[in-house]
Amino acid sequence: MDSIRKGVITFQRYVFPQHKALFRRLALGQTPKALFITCADSRVDPTLITHSDPGELFVDRNAGNFMPPFHGENASEAAGLEYALKVLKIPNIIICGHSDCGAMKAVWHPEMTDGLPSVKRWLRNGNEARKQVMTRKLPEAEQLAAITERNVVNQLEHLRSYPVVQDCLVSGTVRIAGWVYDIEHGKVLEYNSEADRFEVIKG
Ligand SMILES: [Zn+2]
Repeated sequence: MDSIRKGVITFQRYVFPQHKALFRRLALGQTPKALFITCADSRVDPTLITHSDPGELFVDRNAGNFMPPFHGENASEAAGLEYALKVLKIPNIIICGHSDCGAMKAVWHPEMTDGLPSVKRWLRNGNEARKQVMTRKLPEAEQLAAITERNVVNQLEHLRSYPVVQDCLVSGTVRIAGWVYDIEHGKVLEYNSEADRFEVIKG
């Protein structure tokens, strides 16, 4: 805890004074460029990998970067999406998985969550991806990455099941993208739906 408290002091002394104008503007409201749905993993830093400033990404995190399918008016996900799209009018939604994901490893090998009933229940959101990949009989070394990618594609589909997302897609006020962040190489791959594959984002 001490090192985290020290970080707060460092922020206040050295970082905040250099960005006073930005924080003065942010104090009055937010206009994020994207709703960024990603894994809770500590190694995934959305503002770092997109070179964004505070206020530019509206981040929603959970283990496995899942977006459960729409199942009724009261779903908390529906409320979050409604607020993001209708109130904040965020023009982009990105669902971002990542390499070496613990949640995807547990989806791949469900026995890892024996004795963790809540985790096991949550990770059922990835079962679809596991089934799709395991029927392809890929070499073992490729299975985890394939599950991670397929899971992002499935969550994009779930996202499209929300009425508010459908509305915004029809009116052209939102764009959707699926990414996988490669921690070791600092690369981000984006899903190309026409080719049905992930491709490195290049300049
Ligand atoms: Zn993860």
